[in-house]
Amino acid sequence: MTSQDVYPTDMQSSQPDSAPAAEAAASAFVAYLRHLHQTYLPLREGRVANYIPELAKMNSDWFSICVATVDGQVYEVGDSSQTFTLQSISKVFVHGLALEDHGRDYLLTRVGVEPTGEAFNAIILDERSKRPYNPMVNAGAIATTSLIKGSGPTERLNRMLSMFRRYIGHDIFVDMPTFLSERVTGHRNRGMAHLMLNFGMIDPPLDEALDLYFQQCSVLVNCRDLAIMAATLANHGINPLTGEQAVNPCYIRDMLSVMYTCGMYNFAGEWAYTVGIPAKSGVCGGIIAVVPHQFAIAVFSPPLDERGNSVRGVKVCEEISQHYDLHLFDSSMGCQTFLQRLTQPGERF
Ligand code: GLU
Repeated sequence: MTSQDVYPTDMQSSQPDSAPAAEAAASAFVAYLRHLHQTYLPLREGRVANYIPELAKMNSDWFSICVATVDGQVYEVGDSSQTFTLQSISKVFVHGLALEDHGRDYLLTRVGVEPTGEAFNAIILDERSKRPYNPMVNAGAIATTSLIKGSGPTERLNRMLSMFRRYIGHDIFVDMPTFLSERVTGHRNRGMAHLMLNFGMIDPPLDEALDLYFQQCSVLVNCRDLAIMAATLANHGINPLTGEQAVNPCYIRDMLSVMYTCGMYNFAGEWAYTVGIPAKSGVCGGIIAVVPHQFAIAVFSPPLDERGNSVRGVKVCEEISQHYDLHLFDSSMGCQTFLQRLTQPGERF
């Protein structure tokens, strides 16, 4: 075990007689994660995003993997306390807030749920409806963000930060240098906002919507935070550590469906086919993947492939999905869930 490996915090509270078996299973699982970390750390493919100058400062060697279960166990290897900004991963959670603010039917009049097959920053709208295609591409995310309720920019920002706080379980902050860097270079996003204004898909003032979008992308988290946020989605919207309801559970289905079909940029179809679990990535190099009712995986490693997904992150998720037969349409695991396997004393990883 390295100094950076962390065993689940709730192991200390296990019953005395079951503690050794649970500890052995936990330690085997951490060893498995450490093996993945060691396997992919030397991988030198991909490039750190540099189109937002602040992002270019990230180190290509940063790499962490965290798994959080719906019953509150958290397993971490690597630099899991290294902070970075949420970027596109924020879109999942803001989608949830917009659903709560307006309901499914209204939201569908403003943003579709169709994958684009195009890059995340493509300047395109659905030709027929004039809606942006989905809330996971930039145009759709800007439209979604523009719908967040509040009496002014401060209240809207505070509502959004409170929403993120419920998922993460502690106070969070916007990284000011990243926000300013996004704002100074965000001409493409500004172009999309104007196009949507033209078709009545978003309302003025545009600068407020864009600032809020740049702020959500600039929320600072670490890999452990990401895992808890994603595990909250796996757990009917209830944060598994704090017990707080982060989002109305009736919208989890909407959020995960859109993640499943549109969450991995223009790799989403291949991801759904091979990995088979709802996921979202961001240009910071983070990926969250959610196994409903069981657990969530978060990986952080900044070098990206040509579609914008973390190279190491994709590899790790592919391996874990294959190892545990996590594909949603794979029945080979039968009735045995990941959580059952995780607590089996004889389990080998
Ligand atoms: N702030 C980034 C942008 O709008 C987010 C992109 C991403 O993570 O996909 O360009």
